[in-house]
Amino acid sequence: MASLRTSLSVMKVSVNFDVCASTGACTQVCPEVFELRSDGYLYILNESPPPELHDTVIEAEELCPTGAITIEQ
Ligand code: SF4
Repeated sequence: MASLRTSLSVMKVSVNFDVCASTGACTQVCPEVFELRSDGYLYILNESPPPELHDTVIEAEELCPTGAITIEQ
């Protein structure tokens, strides 16, 4: 049972950097996962965020103006 819960809670986050416009919207919603650095590029700090971050990662995906964020669950 525990392993089933674990597999259901796995999330994989990716960003299409060709599409990302470095607006920083995702970093404001979920700074634990998305970071905009001084070089002007977005970095993913954790491609497999823990369950407690899933809601904010989804919010970041919805807020991204260019649709650059993809979430696999
Ligand atoms: S919200 Fe979208 S476009 Fe803006 S920095 Fe994040 S991934 Fe890039």
